[in-house]
Amino acid sequence: MTNPIEVRNPRTGKFDYVIIPPPPRLLAQQCKRTRRGQVRWQQLGLEGRIEALQQWKEAILSGRDRLTEALVNDTGRLSTSVLEIDSFLSSIDRWCKLAPELLQDSAKNTAIPFIALQQTSVPYPLVGIISPWNFPLLLSTIDTIPALLAGCAVIVKPSEIAPRFVAPLKTALSAVPELRDVLTFVEGAGATGSDLIENVDLVCFTGSVATGRKVAEAAAKRFIPAFLELGGKDPAIVLESANLELATSAILWGSVVNTGQSCLSIERIYVAESIFEKFYHQLVAKAYRLQLAYPTVESGEIGPIIAERQAAIISGHLLDAVEKGAVIHCGGVIEDLGGGWWCRPTVLTQVNHSMKVMTEETFGPIMPIMPFSTVEEAVSLANDSIYGLSAAVFASEAEALEVAQQIDAGAISINDAALTAIMHEGEKNAFKFSGMGGSRMGAAALKRFMRKKAILIKTNATNDPWWFETGE
Ligand code: NAD
Repeated sequence: MTNPIEVRNPRTGKFDYVIIPPPPRLLAQQCKRTRRGQVRWQQLGLEGRIEALQQWKEAILSGRDRLTEALVNDTGRLSTSVLEIDSFLSSIDRWCKLAPELLQDSAKNTAIPFIALQQTSVPYPLVGIISPWNFPLLLSTIDTIPALLAGCAVIVKPSEIAPRFVAPLKTALSAVPELRDVLTFVEGAGATGSDLIENVDLVCFTGSVATGRKVAEAAAKRFIPAFLELGGKDPAIVLESANLELATSAILWGSVVNTGQSCLSIERIYVAESIFEKFYHQLVAKAYRLQLAYPTVESGEIGPIIAERQAAIISGHLLDAVEKGAVIHCGGVIEDLGGGWWCRPTVLTQVNHSMKVMTEETFGPIMPIMPFSTVEEAVSLANDSIYGLSAAVFASEAEALEVAQQIDAGAISINDAALTAIMHEGEKNAFKFSGMGGSRMGAAALKRFMRKKAILIKTNATNDPWWFETGE
C-alpha cells in the first residue's frame, strides 16, 4: 500500500481532498493494460480516433460545470479556469482538423530508379505525461491530444498539488469505451512520476528544471525520448519607440495573469532610460486597478498562490531584493486571507542581476523594472539568464524584429506579451535550461509521437549493380 496524499485548497488552506497513489506493481499493471489497448486504438484508424475524441469532448461539455468547479477548487481562480477549459476543448478540435494532413504517409521516387520508397510513421505505443499544477488541465492534455491522434496510448500523471480536475475527466471518459482503454490518469506525486518513466516508451514532462533533470536522466537510462518543458524567466524589452500605453497593458497581463504562475510570465522588464519614469508610473497605476479574487472568486482578477511552497519562494525573492536596495511601489507582501496566500501585483525598481528576483524563477505577480542606456545593453541583460523560454519586445516593428533576432529564446512576442499561451501554431523550442526536445507547438508537436519507418522496394528483376558477381 502507498500512503494517501492530502491536497490543500488554495483559497482556504484546508486539506479537503485526498489522492491515493498506486503502488509500483499496480501502476505497472495499469501501464500494461493501457499499452494492450493501443493495438486496437491504432487499428481503429484516424477517423475512428477523431470520432472517439469528439465523443469525449461532448461528454466533457455536458459535465462542464463539475469540471469548472473542480478546477476552481484546484487553483482558487475562476476566469482563468474558464479560459483553461475553453483552450483544452478547442485544442481537441484544432488537432482533429490538422491530424489527417499531418499523418499522411507518402510514396516517393528515389535517386535510384529501381528502388521506390514508402515513408510511413509508427506511433510510440505508450506515452507518459507528467504535468505541473499551474495550469493543471491544460498542461495534462496539451501533449495528450496529439499523442492520442497519432495512435499512441497515453498515461497521465498530473500534479499532486492540483488533481481534482481528473475525476470529471474520468467520468466523461467512461462514456467513450474506445478511449477509456487507452487513456489512463494516475494519481500521485514524484515517486509515481518516477515509476511511470520505467513503464512508458516516451515521456513528456512539464515542470521545474530540477525535476526535469531527473526525468531526463531516468529516460536516458531507458533510451526513451524525453520532451522537457521547464521553467522560464522571460524578459520584456521596452525601447524608446514603444507605444507606452500598449506596452504597460500587455506587460501587466503577461506578468500577472494566473497570479504570475506561468512558465512564460514576464518576470523581468528592461526599459530605455529616457522613458523609464513614465513607464513605471503608468505600470504602477494600472497594477493598482487590479483586485484580489477575494472574498469571492468573482471579486477580482488575482487568484491565490496555488502551491503553498511558492508563497515562501516569492516572499524570499522580495526580501532578498529589498535587502539589496530594491524599492517596492505597489504590492510586495504575501497576505494571509481566509487561509489562502495572496500577492497583489508588485512593481519593483532599483533592481539588478545580483537579486534573485532578476535571475531565479519567481512564479508570482512580480514586475521588477531595470533601465538600460543602449539596445546592446538591453539584449545582453535579457540574455543573461540560464533560461530561454520566451520573451517580448516593445518598439517600432522594424526595431523590435531586429532585437528579437538577438534574444536567446524560443518565442518572441512583438508589441504583445506571452502570445504562446494563446497561439499554439508557431513551432518553437525551449532554449537553454528551459527545456529539451522537439516543439510542443505547431505541426511538429504531433510528429514527436511517431517513429519514421522507411519501406524500400526494389522494382526491377535484374541484379543490382552493387551485388557480388556470382552468375555464370
Ligand atoms: P515540479 O517539477 O515540482 O513537478 C512537476 C511534476 O513532476 C509533478 O507532477 C510532480 O509530481 C512530478 N515529479 C516530481 N518529482 C518527480 C520525479 N523524480 N520523477 C518524475 N516526476 C516527478 O514542478 P511544479 O512545481 O509542479 O511546476 C512548476 C514548474 O513548472 C515551474 O518551473 C514552471 O516554469 C514549470 N512549467 C513549465 C511549463 C512549460 O511549458 N515550459 C509550463 C508550466 C509550468
